[in-house]
Amino acid sequence: MAENTHIALPLKYRPMTFEDVVGQEHVVRTLRHAIEAKRIANAYLFIGPRGIGKTTLSRIFAKALNCLSPNGVEPCGKCLNCTEIAAGRSLDVTELDAASHNKVEDVKPIIDAAPFKPAASPYKIFIIDECHMLSNAAWNALLKTLEEPPPHVRFIFATTEGDKVLPTIISRCQRFDLRRIQTNDIVARLQHVCRAEGVKAEDDALLAIARGAEGGMRDALSSLDQLISFKGDTVTEDDALGVFGLVSRSALENLAGAILNGDVAGILKSIEMFDSAGKNMRRLSGELLTHFRNLVVVQALGTESKSIAATPDQIKVLAEQSKGIDPGRVFRICDQLAEMEDKLRYVLSVRTLIEMTLIRASRIATTATVEELMKAVRQLKESGGANEDVPAPAFAAQRPVPRRQPAPPDATPPPAPQHPRPEPSPADPPAPARGKAFASRSELLDDPKLNAILAAVPGASVTDIKERN
Ligand SMILES: [Zn+2]
Repeated sequence: MAENTHIALPLKYRPMTFEDVVGQEHVVRTLRHAIEAKRIANAYLFIGPRGIGKTTLSRIFAKALNCLSPNGVEPCGKCLNCTEIAAGRSLDVTELDAASHNKVEDVKPIIDAAPFKPAASPYKIFIIDECHMLSNAAWNALLKTLEEPPPHVRFIFATTEGDKVLPTIISRCQRFDLRRIQTNDIVARLQHVCRAEGVKAEDDALLAIARGAEGGMRDALSSLDQLISFKGDTVTEDDALGVFGLVSRSALENLAGAILNGDVAGILKSIEMFDSAGKNMRRLSGELLTHFRNLVVVQALGTESKSIAATPDQIKVLAEQSKGIDPGRVFRICDQLAEMEDKLRYVLSVRTLIEMTLIRASRIATTATVEELMKAVRQLKESGGANEDVPAPAFAAQRPVPRRQPAPPDATPPPAPQHPRPEPSPADPPAPARGKAFASRSELLDDPKLNAILAAVPGASVTDIKERN
């Protein structure tokens, strides 16, 4: 019996009101204001990737405009107009799928019907989906009606490819760019659906589904539907990971941890494991970049920041991992990973590239930079732990123009203003009064005092500095 009455989840849980729409607050707010203020534009254009609610939003908007007993700005969902629009048989709301109907004769009925007043509604509304597929001839035929629409006519266009819509059309529409829905918003919606359906699903299973759906609510609900039919009413993370070839949340976080700890063996073992399990390595690299990007955000703005789309479990790990490492280093790891994303597009050996990049990233995580060393030396001086023999000024004087770019300004610790460092030019004589002068760089790097200071800086090693500079 249940099989006969089964309604696909994306359909069953399709939002019916503006309130229900997830992740498109910026669009919903404007549309609600427009209805409130009775300032309805002649044409609207919704642009965004598939499965994020363009058609749904078009229908809700159409219902809100034609509802006979609206709830404020929300459609009631019960009146004749609302039910007919929902069932796709309203006389006053015409939907055209331009993906399959893109010729002049397909838009002809719209042009012909437009002058006639709506039958039983305030507006005659034409919704044209995938409008970028309309032929040029069809657009030209429609243009006249679009330029001077009868007062009761409204157009709603939706498309996945906004840049293919002609500028003359865009300029006649109010344009809205819908965004991919954030992972945690999708997870929250999936949790709601599971509760309503009596399905037990691990939070990490829902997270995996949301990750796999890449911002599309419809895909996420379809996948959940598929998993439920496959697994019954208990869905585990492993089930969901299998469908998408994704790496589990904890495995991804452990890999990030291995990078942060400079654990090369751990990195190589993880990659080996993922590769032999047939995981999607390109996705892995993208998700790793997102993880480190989130670390940067947590370090700068804290865990409450709205810029992080993460579940509470993920945030806990981010908070933990962000503690032990300098923001400048995390930023440089992000740089490495972003570069890897770029290279992945044309490289043949994906695995090798990922391994090498992650090892390099782990070295960044654990090797002190010259900037950090200088800071440590300055702090040591300020605390009275070192005397005039501390080689900092001489070291600085030796390398007036660092070859390596220092960390970006937002990630560099602020310089101590009360102790301005001399800014010598290469022509300047070595500052004799400020400290012991070194005959050569290697003499400086071999200095026992410097090495004693470095021993106190985590990750600092003269060998590394010698190698890298
Ligand atoms: Zn209604």
